[in-house]
Order: sequence, then C-alpha cells, then structure tokens
Amino acid sequence: MTYVLWLFFFLIILFLSGVLFWTLRGEQREDEGKASDLEEWNCPSCGFTVQLGTECIYCGEKKPERGV
Ligand SMILES: [Zn+2]
Repeated sequence: MTYVLWLFFFLIILFLSGVLFWTLRGEQREDEGKASDLEEWNCPSCGFTVQLGTECIYCGEKKPERGV
C-alpha cells in the first residue's frame, strides 16, 4: 500500500513540475517577441511545415498570429 502512495506522490510532483515548466516557457516566449519568426509553423491552408519566414512558400499564406 505504501508503494501506491509513493507513486501517487511522485505523479503529483511530476504534474507540478510540468505546470511550472509550461508557465516558464510561456513567459519566455512573450519576452522573445520577434525571435518567434525563426520557429517552424504549420500553414493552416495547405498544412505545409514552413521552416523559415512568416509566409508559406507553398501557397503564399501568411503566418497566423500567436496567442490564440
Ligand atoms: Zn501554405
């Protein structure tokens, strides 16, 4: 029975770490601002993965705004 309690405790710690990680990641992303232009993004129109830039090289679609 003690084993189950430790497993449960471990899962809670893991979950809290995940929440903390995502929170820090979100704040960091806001600080980056323009740097997000270097990220990959999927075109909503044709599904093409654009490696660079803010415009799809396949169909010309603009990169959708973040924070939706
Ligand atoms: Zn496209």
